[in-house]
Amino acid sequence: MADVTVRELADTVGAPVERLLKQMGDAGLPHKKDSDAVSEEQKQELLTYLKRSHGGAEGAPKKITLTRKSVSTLKAGQGKGRTVAVEVRRTRTYVKRGDAGADAGKLTPDVAGDARRVVVSQAELEAERIRREDAARKTAEEETRRAEAEKKAEDERRRAEVERKKEEQIAAKAAPSEAESDQVRLEREAAEAIAAAQAAEQKSSAPKRGAKDRGREKERGMDDEFGDGRRRRREITLKPDLRKPKRKVDKQGGEFERPTEFVQREVEVPEAMSVGELAQRMSVKAGEVIKTLMGMGVMATINHVLDQDTASLVIEEMGHITKTVASDALEHAHEQSLNIEGESATRPPVVTIMGHVDHGKTSLLDYIRKTKVASGEAGGITQHIGAYHVEIPQGRITFLDTPGHAAFTAMRARGAQATDIVVLVVAADDGVMPQTEEAIQHAKAAGTPIIVAMNKIDKEGADPERVKNELAAKDVIPDAWGGDTQFVSVSALTGEGVDALLAAIVLQAELMELTAVADGPGRGVVVESRLDRGRGPVVTLLVQNGTLRQGKVLIAGEHIGRVRAMVNDRGEAIEEAGPSTPVEVLGLSGTPDAGDPFSVAPDERKARELASFRQARSTEQRHAQHQATKIENMFATMQEGEKSILRLVIKTDVRGSLEAITHAIHELGTDEVRAVIIGSGVGGISESEAMLALTSRAAIFGFNVRPDAGGKKIIEREGLDVRYYSVIYELLDDVKQVLSGMLAPEVREEILGLAEVRDVFSSPRYGQVAGCMVVSGTLYRNKKVRVLRDDVVIHQGELDSLRRFKDDVGEVRNGLECGIGVRNYDVRVGDKIEVFDTKEFARAL
Ligand code: GDP
Ligand code: MG
Repeated sequence: MADVTVRELADTVGAPVERLLKQMGDAGLPHKKDSDAVSEEQKQELLTYLKRSHGGAEGAPKKITLTRKSVSTLKAGQGKGRTVAVEVRRTRTYVKRGDAGADAGKLTPDVAGDARRVVVSQAELEAERIRREDAARKTAEEETRRAEAEKKAEDERRRAEVERKKEEQIAAKAAPSEAESDQVRLEREAAEAIAAAQAAEQKSSAPKRGAKDRGREKERGMDDEFGDGRRRRREITLKPDLRKPKRKVDKQGGEFERPTEFVQREVEVPEAMSVGELAQRMSVKAGEVIKTLMGMGVMATINHVLDQDTASLVIEEMGHITKTVASDALEHAHEQSLNIEGESATRPPVVTIMGHVDHGKTSLLDYIRKTKVASGEAGGITQHIGAYHVEIPQGRITFLDTPGHAAFTAMRARGAQATDIVVLVVAADDGVMPQTEEAIQHAKAAGTPIIVAMNKIDKEGADPERVKNELAAKDVIPDAWGGDTQFVSVSALTGEGVDALLAAIVLQAELMELTAVADGPGRGVVVESRLDRGRGPVVTLLVQNGTLRQGKVLIAGEHIGRVRAMVNDRGEAIEEAGPSTPVEVLGLSGTPDAGDPFSVAPDERKARELASFRQARSTEQRHAQHQATKIENMFATMQEGEKSILRLVIKTDVRGSLEAITHAIHELGTDEVRAVIIGSGVGGISESEAMLALTSRAAIFGFNVRPDAGGKKIIEREGLDVRYYSVIYELLDDVKQVLSGMLAPEVREEILGLAEVRDVFSSPRYGQVAGCMVVSGTLYRNKKVRVLRDDVVIHQGELDSLRRFKDDVGEVRNGLECGIGVRNYDVRVGDKIEVFDTKEFARAL
């Protein structure tokens, strides 16, 4: 083989010429310049020297460095007088995954065998898997944090490295005889390259591993017992000179594959997950996901929570396969365990009373309780537990004791359908009021039938016919008029008509054929909960199916506990409660929210598992909801049909400003979009209003007001978009902006110039030509024109010609005379010719 120059050799081995020259000098070779020729023997000599000084590596920088990969490298003689480096490598158990294979691939046969010595039983593997999956959720967050920390450390290290290199370069120039430093650098650089490659590989490991991977991990040394997700150090002995061939064999054998190429993965997509988590599932860096999102027009950070659709798009964009999973497999299993086999029987209806303030909801509930509940009870002391039931000859009815919309919407917001029938109280002397409308909206949205109680019938000004008319206008039509809503005249004061109302409820319930299965574990919905100083969490539950028994393990929302004591609506201690029965329960670990589902769990472990799953999920969902309720996102998340309506809840400090704002907002609408005020009033933003906004996807606007404590709680918890103003104009401006955002861009005309026809000529070439004077703007030859006669458009078309004297011109400015030829236009003196252009505008109102 022909000799090569030092430069060529340097290129071949990928090392700087200077370094190579110095190494050659150290090896006793005579080369001084990069153009000096290196013979085959000299190459061998250099190689031998490098091998000697490096314990078995082969000269190429990459290989040299492998032996010195980490600080704790040892040199040890082995067998045939070879030098062998012992490498200490850090192993992190829970991020391992793909890297397991890679590491194992680097083991020499005897070492690998050593690791495989640990025999793992199938059972252990299974236990390990379960533990790991449990830990996975907990560690996900930690991992994101760690990844960030690692990245920071890496950056730091790189910076230090650059600094050091600079110093070394200076040092090398100053003292070229310092062979040590150069070699050290050489080694370190390569070590870093390898470390970086490994880090990348480690990151590219999928969190969801196949059984095969787990098996590998097992093989690698389960003496670690790393199921706990903690970091550990582990020592692996490597024989550098055997590494490369060994890996090749492995690759061919297919046993330990190093994931060097793109691996298409099936990525599980839960309802919501963070960018970091998604990156992890795809085994890519979060930065790549963020970049992909950016490409899709979404600005996101590592902690940004993506919904299922967005996540799926990202996954597909990055070439992986989406696998939507029921993230609530646990929930599903629990659901299955609750499936009651048994005969279903008729159950009492559950009723919520709604209506405008002061129309008599509380009075009506109190009257019914007083006259129907206490009767026959020894002592007659009734206890308010959030719900009560009454018995009349026709049947039984359960009333939810929290009148108004708050309870109803709170439940609906949590997806609970506790109410079977809504009794809409309308004061017969007052008629339909804003909250009456609101109640109708709520009931209709929930698909709950309404019974109208026309209250205060005893009063002078009571006018039931008016109530019927007004309600019919809201599409609540009396059955007497061919509708399906029962109207009953009542007086909560005198009790007149109350029996008829109860009978109407029972009738409605019969029509609905409400049934439940009384056998099996009890389940239902949380009606309300509070923390009692002495007794701890006190929770009112409405059993909807099955039977709840004392001593059972209960899961309610995110809380669990054992039913210590149960009290019914009459204040009596009871042992069990069947369908449609409200009970007060002691023994839960916390206070669940109204509307949370509750159910009996088979055992405490399952309950605990489910509770922690729900906690984790609600955090995720809250985050996702946060994005959805932002006013900017409101429209994007709306259904097609409702896109044109911006719902608002508006609270103001005084009546006057409310009226002004309401009026102005009504004026703002167009055919396409409009703002609808679904809730308004004077005073702070209450819990009920916040709930209304939440369930109706409305934005809350506060004018010189702030939320009260209850309102604040909901707003914070649900991440509602609330805007505060102290200038009406600014409020209206924001409404306008939101509405304009909803509008498709408008094609609008811009009038560029106007000319008056002063004379008519005939031209052999152009036919009729209008002699004009430009009276405003500028006329352009290539724009469209419109001809107006007595301010009415008579023609629209294009210019045939535009001339000044005998010359064709492109434009004519204001105040100048010109000749205009318009195709197909019968010119008449006195017409106006308008030149215009069409442009797209982002619409504003
Ligand atoms: P809520 O705000 O809907 O709960 O209304 P309330 O039950 O607090 O009633 C408001 C006012 O109307 C109270 O002063 C009641 O006494 C009165 N009221 C309620 N029902 C009747 C009724 O049937 N007849 C008369 N005359 N007054 C009633
Ligand atoms: Mg009241």
